[in-house]
Amino acid sequence: MMFSKGITKFIAQGCSDHLDEETNRKVRVINLFALVGVCLTLVLGLRAIVDGNVPLALILLVATALFGASQRIHVKVGGTMGRVLSMNLLLTCLMGLMAVLVVTGGNGNTGPLWIYIVPPVAMFFGGFRRGLQSNFGFILLIALLLFFPDERLLLTSYSVELKTRLIYSFLTVTFLSAFYEYSRQKTFETVQQLSERFEQQARQDPLTRLPNRRGVQQYIDYELTRMARSGRPMTVILADVDRFKAINDTYGHDNGDQILMRIAQTFRARIRRQDIVARWGGEEFLFVLPETPESNAMILANDIREALAQLPVNIDGERIEVTASFGVCEVNADVTLNRALSLADKALYRAKDKGRNRVCAASQLDD
Ligand code: GH3
Ligand code: MG
Ligand code: MG
Repeated sequence: MMFSKGITKFIAQGCSDHLDEETNRKVRVINLFALVGVCLTLVLGLRAIVDGNVPLALILLVATALFGASQRIHVKVGGTMGRVLSMNLLLTCLMGLMAVLVVTGGNGNTGPLWIYIVPPVAMFFGGFRRGLQSNFGFILLIALLLFFPDERLLLTSYSVELKTRLIYSFLTVTFLSAFYEYSRQKTFETVQQLSERFEQQARQDPLTRLPNRRGVQQYIDYELTRMARSGRPMTVILADVDRFKAINDTYGHDNGDQILMRIAQTFRARIRRQDIVARWGGEEFLFVLPETPESNAMILANDIREALAQLPVNIDGERIEVTASFGVCEVNADVTLNRALSLADKALYRAKDKGRNRVCAASQLDD
């Protein structure tokens, strides 16, 4: 239990919530691969010492140290640079070991069989394009070692059939690994796009295409931090369509929907580039105006109100009048966002009381 917990912890070293899924996956593969590399080369290296094969023991123990170092590098250095260094060191180390196995022939001349580890590992670390490049570089090196005249680069000897089949089969495994990696990357991208689209839909009102409460909240959070830095106030405006129930009752719910869409278009066309308008619920809309004091917001709210009142809305050939009432409140060092929303709501109902189709500021509430 303790052991498996330790392994899990080791494999997760260097992973972080700040990194994307794909990068964390790479970090885990680096750790896992370094661990397997250290264990395998250490055991084989110790056995070589026992067998009295000093050169082999030396090579294997140097590989153990390099595998271990590659794990430490990405943990200590961190960032993209640490990960790239680790991956390159691991891959070079692995390719070097494979080359040694090909040159020496390994146990009973079966050494070359291990080279098939390289394609999937290179794809894991480098992705499709870089993986392909690494594999081609590696197989060129192996071909050079195998086909150098008179096998002068080899400490052993292989039949020509074995050499050629080794190259062909390596290329086949490379293409299969590349195909697998390509499909995996494409699937990953599709899933990511889908999740972004769902995320976007969850923040948008489907009828008016304006941000919904959730969508505007994100924007407000961002603007609040900016406001804390700049010290300049922002203003919120709550708008509620006048007597919308009557419009629905007279012209039907579908026409009501069409009118809501026209209202949203008008609102969106009237605000400045830095402002945002959201569907706050039902026939209520929220405007957020960054770096705007209440006095300026009042002017903007009146512009919007007039534009809506003059909007030609025709239903079944009949022109109908659509108006809204507005409540305006400034968010500043003394008034929190929640308080401003509640005061804007009060101001909005004051505007309704006063006869609708008008703008009322929170600062006017007391008089
Ligand atoms: P007031 O001027 O006091 O705001 O009167 P009102 O009729 O607008 O207010 P009330 O709250 O009584 O009614 C709001 C109406 O808005 C009732 C509801 O059916 C309608 N409504 C809310 N959301 C939608 C929508 O998505 N589509 C349509 N067609 N109607 C909606
Ligand atoms: Mg309402
Ligand atoms: Mg209303």
